[in-house]
Amino acid sequence: MLTAKHMASLLMIALIVPNSIQTLGNNPIVSEDIKELSLLPYNERVESKSSHVFFGEVKSIECKIINTNQGKMIVSYARVEINKYNKGDGPDEVIVSYYGGEVGDFGQAHFYNPGNLIRLEEGKEYKIYSNKLQKKANEYSTYYVETTEKELQSESPSIHNVLFQQPKHGIVSVDETEGQGFAFFGWHYHEDDFPVTYRINEDGTSDCWGEKTAIENAFETWEDEHNDYVEFIRLGDTDRELDMGDGYNVFDFEYNSSVSWAGHCVLNYNANTYQILEWDIELNDMWIWYAGAFPYCYDVRSVSTHEAGHTLGLQDLTEEENDLETMYYTSELFDVTQRTLHDGDLDGLAYVYP
Ligand SMILES: [Zn+2]
Repeated sequence: MLTAKHMASLLMIALIVPNSIQTLGNNPIVSEDIKELSLLPYNERVESKSSHVFFGEVKSIECKIINTNQGKMIVSYARVEINKYNKGDGPDEVIVSYYGGEVGDFGQAHFYNPGNLIRLEEGKEYKIYSNKLQKKANEYSTYYVETTEKELQSESPSIHNVLFQQPKHGIVSVDETEGQGFAFFGWHYHEDDFPVTYRINEDGTSDCWGEKTAIENAFETWEDEHNDYVEFIRLGDTDRELDMGDGYNVFDFEYNSSVSWAGHCVLNYNANTYQILEWDIELNDMWIWYAGAFPYCYDVRSVSTHEAGHTLGLQDLTEEENDLETMYYTSELFDVTQRTLHDGDLDGLAYVYP
């Protein structure tokens, strides 16, 4: 038991350290604002941080390649006709930008955890959570959308995935509404691409110990459940960070003030063949990481196992009936159930890599 004196000194340490956490021994101390935030359901958390939330129909989409300090990124710009503002106010038509899309044979997908892959389609209607860009008159960035069909039909709004059907080279995309406990849009490695190598950024996280081994275990979980050609090899640590197009698969912890996500996987693929070319993963050090289950902390291995599933081409699941699968769209704090693969995850692995 901690004495009152100990508690007071722990509090002092937490106050003088600028980060929201101080690791003492092996027990992280979590700040009150992180606790408060983590108690909100995901869509409320995102809504509270969005300047504008609206319903609108996508009229057209244009994708561009931009060079950033995180490498080559594809940004899509959708022209959206707004039916109703739920939060904030603005013009009847806006441009909504988001990461990911296809330009020529260069394709890029961004998976946020929690969150869904954003792939808007022309002619469809969405509920869009966004932030107005300061320097642009009518441009809004979004990192989260919901399709509206379900919301309009049911009294209790439920998060619904953006479904996308695009058969590529004999591989037919599978969406979860067909009853499988996995979703797959076609991104995949070829058998002779294995083993896939990756590196972990040398800095890891200061939140806990054992995070690099936890990441390695996460990739091994997929490998062990396949038992054949699916194989990952962890190479030596690196000072590289998220940098798309550098030819390295890198796993890194980075601080990002966006509370909407804890994990982010970016995948580059050939837009003609859907073959996976490169990926990077970042875990958001705004949250508290722990190699194990601890209150208000994310388990490194659980979230990493989910992210590793994306590197194999598996998509997030958003139907509540799939909430026990590791590829379910949100990882929970203080939870280690995504360390292992569940029936749908295993079916997905076997489907993509027969
Ligand atoms: Zn995900």
